[in-house]
Amino acid sequence: MNPTSPIKRIAIFGSTGSIGQQALEVILANPTKFSVEILTANSNDELLIQQALKFNPNMVVIGDENKYTAVKEALAGTDVKVFAGEQALEEVAAIDCYDLMLAAIVGYAGLKPTLNAIKAGKPVALANKETLVVAGDIVMRTAVENRVPVIPVDSEHSAIFQCLVGEMRNPIEKVILTASGGPFLGKKTNFLVNVKREHALQHPNWNMGAKISVDSATLMNKGLEMIEAKWLFNLRLDQIQVLIHPQSIIHSMVQFQDGSIKAQMGLPDMRLPIQYALAFPKRIPSDFPRCDFRRLQTLTFEDPDVRTFRNLGLATEALHKGGNLPCVLNAANEIAVYAFLRNRIGFLEITDVIEKTMEKVSFLQQPTLEQYFESDGEARSYAADMIQL
Ligand code: NAD
Ligand code: MG
Repeated sequence: MNPTSPIKRIAIFGSTGSIGQQALEVILANPTKFSVEILTANSNDELLIQQALKFNPNMVVIGDENKYTAVKEALAGTDVKVFAGEQALEEVAAIDCYDLMLAAIVGYAGLKPTLNAIKAGKPVALANKETLVVAGDIVMRTAVENRVPVIPVDSEHSAIFQCLVGEMRNPIEKVILTASGGPFLGKKTNFLVNVKREHALQHPNWNMGAKISVDSATLMNKGLEMIEAKWLFNLRLDQIQVLIHPQSIIHSMVQFQDGSIKAQMGLPDMRLPIQYALAFPKRIPSDFPRCDFRRLQTLTFEDPDVRTFRNLGLATEALHKGGNLPCVLNAANEIAVYAFLRNRIGFLEITDVIEKTMEKVSFLQQPTLEQYFESDGEARSYAADMIQL
């Protein structure tokens, strides 16, 4: 943090998304603690302009270069610098004008800006789990080399992170990642075969972006989170248990070597883990709704139905085999989910596309960053061909 200023200067990559907008709510409620330095969006120029006019950042980046003129003109009367394009997104991440990056871009597109921030020595509050799924070994190694903290924003990983505060070097026996089960909990294949985009986007407990909502419905989200947990907390596969907990009150748990278990709880509200990551190591006051245990009927737990929701098995296999397989899994999943969202394939076909792509792309045990990029490209083109995109 800048020693001359008590205000933490935040760069939000993906500010127009669900996480980005909630982060701006947190910042708005805490004007003496945070300021906004950088805002970025892919194509939603209107919202980016509104956000820039409200928060007066140092700079904004719009991914879609065709929108540059619109953003530039709308911000002409301000001091806000405007950039456009993928290259600019990566370069801006390395500029020494902020104290913490909130990595809230969705998907593989978040990897390069996040890695650039880490290389530039910037602490990262990480929502973009795909960054760790694609190249977790390289990202975490680079963070260690640059002594950069990676603070999780994903609610499960924030929960584990919070449980570990004060535990110094006490080894973890295992973590229990809780999952709501998504909108199709308890459903079987004969139901899922007819499921459409609008069903999948109706999550019972969380209001999130389209891609993660579909990932939650297929349970791929939990698979990606197992891989994310491996890299964040240095865990083996046998130390990660997934449990369905439909009420989403316990956000995850850590079991220690003495058998003691710590859980982090609260109402499902992403502003809480976002605020925790922005303010870390401090906790700051909030007026978010409080959990009243007298009003909770029950807290229930069950094993996930891996026979119906096969994505969880595919992600487990990718985590077990390692190498470029999680990267391939992620790329195929992104292609398949966007095809599903455009009604090009059915819900169950998402899994078929991922499975076949994982079989097809050649396995690399210890890829370089360049090889991760290549594996991502290879997997995308194979998956897209299969769907005939
Ligand atoms: P979203 O779709 O609502 O927003 C995505 C943001 O990324 C937008 O600002 C968009 O402009 C930007 N973006 C998309 N594609 C881009 C590209 N190619 N280049 C540059 N920018 C691009 O997504 P979200 O729900 O806010 O999720 C963001 C990330 O946080 C995801 O990785 C998700 O898994 C993770 N996450 C989200 C939640 C949640 O509650 N929404 C919870 C936990 C983790
Ligand atoms: Mg999560």
